[in-house]
Amino acid sequence: MADGSGAVEKGFNGKMLNVNLTTGEITVENPPESLYRQYLGGYGIGARMLWDRVPRGADPLGPENMLGIFPGLLTGTPLFGQRWQVVCKSPTTGGWGDANCGGDFGGQLKLSGWDGIMFFGRSPKPVYLLIDNDRVELRDATDLWGTGAITSEEQLKERHGKRASIANIGQSGETLSYLSGICNDHGRLAARSGVGAVMGSKNLKAIVALADRKIIAQTGEVTKMVRTNLDEFIKPLRDFFHTFGTTGITSMSAINGDSPVKNWGGVGVVDFPPETSGQIAGAVINTRMEKSYGCWHCPMACGAESVESDNPKYPYPKHTHRPEYEAMASFGTMNLVNNPEALIYANHLCNEYGLDVIGAGVTVSFAIECFEAGILTKEDTDGLELSWGGGDAMIELLKMIGERRGLGDTLADGVKVAAEKIGRGSERFAMHIGGQEIPMHDPKLQPEYHNTYKLDPTPARHTLYEANKRFGKIPPAPTNNRDYANRGEHHKGALEYMHMVNA
Ligand code: SF4
Repeated sequence: MADGSGAVEKGFNGKMLNVNLTTGEITVENPPESLYRQYLGGYGIGARMLWDRVPRGADPLGPENMLGIFPGLLTGTPLFGQRWQVVCKSPTTGGWGDANCGGDFGGQLKLSGWDGIMFFGRSPKPVYLLIDNDRVELRDATDLWGTGAITSEEQLKERHGKRASIANIGQSGETLSYLSGICNDHGRLAARSGVGAVMGSKNLKAIVALADRKIIAQTGEVTKMVRTNLDEFIKPLRDFFHTFGTTGITSMSAINGDSPVKNWGGVGVVDFPPETSGQIAGAVINTRMEKSYGCWHCPMACGAESVESDNPKYPYPKHTHRPEYEAMASFGTMNLVNNPEALIYANHLCNEYGLDVIGAGVTVSFAIECFEAGILTKEDTDGLELSWGGGDAMIELLKMIGERRGLGDTLADGVKVAAEKIGRGSERFAMHIGGQEIPMHDPKLQPEYHNTYKLDPTPARHTLYEANKRFGKIPPAPTNNRDYANRGEHHKGALEYMHMVNA
């Protein structure tokens, strides 16, 4: 349907790319419209494609696995059009793996004319995929291999121009760390499920998208509908999150029981009380920020970018992303670190190495608790004294993980693998479900997370619960937080809703 402007009210292009990295062959696939109608996009189409194309028993880091990149059905449109989904068989859990991301890459990929890219095989040397609208080719990435995700994004922008949008991996993806994700827009990560390791296993450093089109499905009718509905939808949240980002809930969550404390062994009011956790409140973090940031066309614009650090111990550069809540809690509340500079720098390092902030922060907590219990000693840590609240040691350990150096090599695949390697009872400090580190919301405060963490196809998912309360059609959960037995219908409704969002 068109409005006379020539624009077509359709949220998809009708074509996808198959890239065989072993042979270098690139083929175009034109899925039937029924595929979009049945599975929408993103997570939905990704699940279908993965199911059809990855053989049973495939090694997640082997050539048979598929790395799929799928913008959502609405991506590229003015309606929350920035999210994109990565799917694969996960090395972290051994099952379905997905990670969702904002930034600018999803919209640009869709506008360049493609509804998805499916990578198979393994390239004999490091490469990147260049998509310039209909022109698609593999390029040598040998010179980029070994560089951080933000650094190599800058290098690729110098090569292909500022309008190029880039999804890439840092050193952690290259070295197949299960904690690695895929980065875009100088530090927004599709972080979970070890998707960066799958990209690294294929010797694929980056995808560069250049699009001439500006937007799809933007007719007068659509724009009006979006303006009326979307503004109303986000109004209650926008002021707070636009000003403070999700960082704004960190100090409050340390006190109300939302955040886990001291590797899930502490209590906020005792171990990280307001006089301590208040030093990483949103207003304090904002004193280090220079300007606000939003992912592509996002009406919420919950991000911010920093000034350059003047602290030589924590030298984050200008335009470092403000850490999200999950980063603040996993490095801050979990490790009792309340130095804002250390936390912004930890977040920056994760973005540059391409590490999942949840996995990396939880893994540092695991190491501290092992050290406290005498399971790890200074001999294991190359002389590093690990302690609760020790920001400098936390940063050094994070660098060791990002570079797989010393103990960092043992820790780089997350707490489950680390505990298996270390032994000596360390598994009791390994906070994971199905191999994936547990995120920063304690189910004792919000019982829905019990089900979500344990039962979702992506275990330890933190993005499901929020939607539940705000959408009336989902059967309500019991109000008694200790009633775990009667949440099936509620969980099913919430899952269906969230799977729709992810598509
Ligand atoms: S700006 Fe914030 S709310 Fe908008 S897509 Fe990015 S992370 Fe999500």
